[in-house]
Amino acid sequence: MSKTVKCPTCGKAVTWGPDSPLRPFCSERCKLIDLGEWAAEGHRIPGEEILPEEMLDPERRHRH
Ligand SMILES: [Zn+2]
Repeated sequence: MSKTVKCPTCGKAVTWGPDSPLRPFCSERCKLIDLGEWAAEGHRIPGEEILPEEMLDPERRHRH
């Protein structure tokens, strides 16, 4: 029985387990955004304003 949590950055469901080393984040990018490193690059992107295309690409590769 696997538990899922919501990524704090984009709200995507993330499996809580060994397959998700970045949990509760769905991707390294979301983790970096939450840590503020993304902002350090000159971007200020609240979680809900992240471009879906940018977010989905790495996640799809990971899932499939
Ligand atoms: Zn995310």
